[in-house]
Amino acid sequence: MQFILYTTGRCNLSCKYCGGSFDPSIVPWRVEYRIGLLDDLIKSGDVVAFYGGEPLLNIAFMKDVVERFPDARFVVQTNGLLLDRLSPRLLDSLSTILISIDGREAVTDMYRGKGVYRKVLNSVSAVRAKGFEGELVARMTLTCHSDVFSDVMHLLDIGIFDSVHWQLSFVWVPIESWPDLWQWIRESYMTGLRRLFGEWLARLERGELLGIVPFRGILKRVLRGGPIPPCGSGIESFTILTDGRVVSCPIAVSERWAFVGRLGNVSRSDIEKRKPIVEEPCKSCERLRTCGTRCLYTHLERLWGIEGVEAVCECSKFIIDLIENNLERIMSATSRSRLRLEDLLYPEYNNTVEIMP
Ligand code: SF4
Ligand code: SF4
Repeated sequence: MQFILYTTGRCNLSCKYCGGSFDPSIVPWRVEYRIGLLDDLIKSGDVVAFYGGEPLLNIAFMKDVVERFPDARFVVQTNGLLLDRLSPRLLDSLSTILISIDGREAVTDMYRGKGVYRKVLNSVSAVRAKGFEGELVARMTLTCHSDVFSDVMHLLDIGIFDSVHWQLSFVWVPIESWPDLWQWIRESYMTGLRRLFGEWLARLERGELLGIVPFRGILKRVLRGGPIPPCGSGIESFTILTDGRVVSCPIAVSERWAFVGRLGNVSRSDIEKRKPIVEEPCKSCERLRTCGTRCLYTHLERLWGIEGVEAVCECSKFIIDLIENNLERIMSATSRSRLRLEDLLYPEYNNTVEIMP
């Protein structure tokens, strides 16, 4: 099980995709429940991910949780600006740090604010310099201004991040903000993806494994399957908001379908019994096993209507086909290198990365 704990609804940035802090009447800026109530849900070996708002604005809560659950694995999703506030002990307790950065400087700063790219990189470099041995994941949002090949390769070439993953900013921003959505999908995104995959495979043939999350994560799902949706929301991943509400997806802070219960009234066995929600067109889709509806939130909310569903599907099918149609090449590249197939499959545990972009 994975538990995503909001430490606050407040954020110290106001990025164009989400607009910054939550309204405190929806997601309070302080944790309002007794920490002891988490004992009903979190068990030894679970993953606990700190989330917000900006989670590092409430380091005291993170510290209390880490001390209370010494046998859990800890993850944080952060904008990276406050990483220097983590004590060496707390830093040492984290297995994965996911940092929001969109690729090249101009693209990152366009959405996240001037100077953010530099500050984030300085802060992430300092974490490595302090001896952090866990995984550093760059977490990109892709928009019509992104170039998937250049932006992903840029982040990998910096040499600090172990892995890079991205989410298409479909549905989070108005559809009108994409001047020509389908042209971008076919001429920019798909062309760039093909090139990026070619680079990943060429390096693999030389024995080098690039940490491109969707390629490795989809490969794992093709070979081994996995939860539906791939992030596990609502079946093996639950989010606890600062007011003690338990919801299935961290984004769905006020959607009725996402409400699971309240801390104190919901038990571990209640959540373990939950089944995936799959509606059409995913229910009868032949790629459901791999794609897994891509994202429960977009699957149910459909904020861009039919066109949004089609855009998501077109991109999902394309990237799945890229892996499936090249399975033999991937296997033969792996066997010629010193890598084992197991080394390619990602993630080792649910570290909150979203596999399907
Ligand atoms: S490809 Fe489209 S229809 Fe198929 S499972 Fe994914 S989102 Fe659903
Ligand atoms: S992929 Fe979708 S359902 Fe899963 S956590 Fe992200 S927004 Fe929620």
